[in-house]
Amino acid sequence: MNHIKIDEGLFLVIGGSFPRCNTLVAIDEEVVVVDPGCNVEDLRALLQQNDLTLRNIDTIILSHIHPDHITHAMRLNRLSNCRIAANEFTAPLFDNKEKMKEFLGFRKGHPVRKLWEQLVNSNMYGAFDEGQVDEVLHDGDKFALGNITLQMLYTPGHLPDHMCIEILESNIVYGSDIDLTEFGPYYGHPNSSISDFKESIHKLQHNNYKALISGHLKEPIIEDYKTALAAYQRQFGIREDLVLVSIMEGAKSIQEITMNPIIYPSLISPIFLQFETWMIEHHVAALIDRNLVEERKGKLIAL
Ligand SMILES: [Zn+2]
Repeated sequence: MNHIKIDEGLFLVIGGSFPRCNTLVAIDEEVVVVDPGCNVEDLRALLQQNDLTLRNIDTIILSHIHPDHITHAMRLNRLSNCRIAANEFTAPLFDNKEKMKEFLGFRKGHPVRKLWEQLVNSNMYGAFDEGQVDEVLHDGDKFALGNITLQMLYTPGHLPDHMCIEILESNIVYGSDIDLTEFGPYYGHPNSSISDFKESIHKLQHNNYKALISGHLKEPIIEDYKTALAAYQRQFGIREDLVLVSIMEGAKSIQEITMNPIIYPSLISPIFLQFETWMIEHHVAALIDRNLVEERKGKLIAL
């Protein structure tokens, strides 16, 4: 069985690590699916156990535009004619997949774009299907379906459009890609932001939830999530130290730093080298901001 019951009418289909994700399912007066990136057969099995089918889905909510979280949205929409809901930043990207690709850093002509598209198409087929968001959500908006109320909580950083979803009656938050994995925070796009990510983590630490649901862990319900978030957040500092050491040891450019990858030590694909590069760029910018590194004539120098 690839799902767990979280509370009355509230389930999580375990998709696990990238290229899948954990999909939240609320069954009450409506059937709501958050982030349909799990295996569709597992979602079907859960619904069947509740005397429902994929055709009974009323609404899909998207936490952000990443392909592993939106994978089956349009396939399920074609089956069920469900409405699709997303926040004001995600919606225009979902409605125009060229905009989505640009938002993620892969503009037309980008050297890695084709490979990345192939990765998405072979592992997250459907994520580029054209579609339309029917309901635009905003920070703090509530989505009520009988005894379950979902509330949108903007948590940018991972991407500018990232949001968590609070389940008010259960006092639980679906953390999506604030996922508490051992890998740590992911901010591998030009418009990701380490400082926004830290603020979003702070926001979650400030609230007293009963638990946080990870978008990717196989054991996804984290009760002591504040401790887990503190450990997760330490990765920012550890990585930044490694970047600084690399510059101190003579690396003069982002490219030279990534010759000994820090984020993905066993890196083999040009796509992940691109993600690594974007993440290192954010760290170098932070080090320059803190006057620990300077750029002189295009070369990085530790101060
Ligand atoms: Zn994501």
